Amino acid sequence: MIENLLHRNDSKILLIVLDGLGGLPVKDGKTELEIANTPNLDNLAKVSALGMHIPVDYGITPGSGPGHLGLFGYDPLKYQIGRGILEALGLGLEVRHTDIAIRGNYATVEYVNDRPIVKDRRAGRIPTEENRRITKKLQESLREIDGVQVIIAPGMEHRVAIVLRFPEELPEGSDEINDTDPQEVGKEPLKPVGRNPNAERVARVVEKFVEKVSQLLKEEPKANYLLLRGFAQKPRIPTMEERFGVKPCCIAVYPMYKGLASLVGMDIIKFEGNTIQGEINTLKKVWSDYDFFFVHIKKTDSYGEDGNWEGKVSVIEDFDRHLPQFLELKPDVLAITGDHSTPSKLKGHSWHPVPLLINSPYVLGGTSERFTERECLKGELGILPAQKIMNLLLANALRLKKFGA
Ligand code: ZN
Repeated sequence: MIENLLHRNDSKILLIVLDGLGGLPVKDGKTELEIANTPNLDNLAKVSALGMHIPVDYGITPGSGPGHLGLFGYDPLKYQIGRGILEALGLGLEVRHTDIAIRGNYATVEYVNDRPIVKDRRAGRIPTEENRRITKKLQESLREIDGVQVIIAPGMEHRVAIVLRFPEELPEGSDEINDTDPQEVGKEPLKPVGRNPNAERVARVVEKFVEKVSQLLKEEPKANYLLLRGFAQKPRIPTMEERFGVKPCCIAVYPMYKGLASLVGMDIIKFEGNTIQGEINTLKKVWSDYDFFFVHIKKTDSYGEDGNWEGKVSVIEDFDRHLPQFLELKPDVLAITGDHSTPSKLKGHSWHPVPLLINSPYVLGGTSERFTERECLKGELGILPAQKIMNLLLANALRLKKFGA
């Protein structure tokens, strides 16, 4: 519906995502946001619209993929991004509509009567350095199969991402292929089988790929086989420009977030370094070129996952020190939130609602003293689904016309 109400203007919308922002009490009954000393955020919170958002659904713990899609205004259940695509994006590979992306595991097999039997599904979790060496060797000897380009990127330990790039666009369903990982030791890897004719064609290329890889790895002591999972195509997602009439760009350090942003049509701004200051300098440079800016800050989530609440507090405080520079740009609408909660207490993502702040000249404000979980609950936005945030950002930017007469 929103497509029919769009009204373009010169307003600028800035969305800052502190990954895994929300938390639970970790010390003296206080959350990381409550412990953090955040004078700038406090001042902003007093004059902003506050609330909590639910990334996917009640009780659902989202990955960062669905978490971000929701923030970008997309239904994460309707637009599901396959694991292979996320893995490839995370390792910095580009994905196209001609591609099948796959997650791979180096594994150890033993040949019994010439048939591979899985002995270790993770090849003893070989060191990442070892992975890089083996992957380089593979890539150098295996560049294409029957006109299909093969691209392999090393991940951590035994993990790799593979992109098979076909000469032409692949029809939908071409990725409907079973995992080859038998999930158990003592079993033979499964043959890749397509569940429809298009997928069957891809499966035949995959079969040759597996065969060639196992020949090339035969002499390796541990990583002498490659198990494949999560076959996936690039999802067909309308761009943010098509859906919301904005010209968006992304400033992020980690490849997966840049990849996610590119899936919804954001321009990815390249920059050096990995600091918030570096992101701000980059933002300033492109401020006149776009009207929607997504800035991603990762470390809140990383420390949450480590159970390091002091670390998470320090990133929140670091962000607070930089907040005045974001404000100096005078965005018409500023939103600060997370893509999901990552409470240090749980050492992982969680289902908890995520604090949300929206600042514009058209908010009520005056409900809360700080930007914390409890203070956000007092705010005017209440608890809302993440995918509705985009509506609010557009409305606050006066980019939505009246509905009906
Ligand atoms: Zn995340």
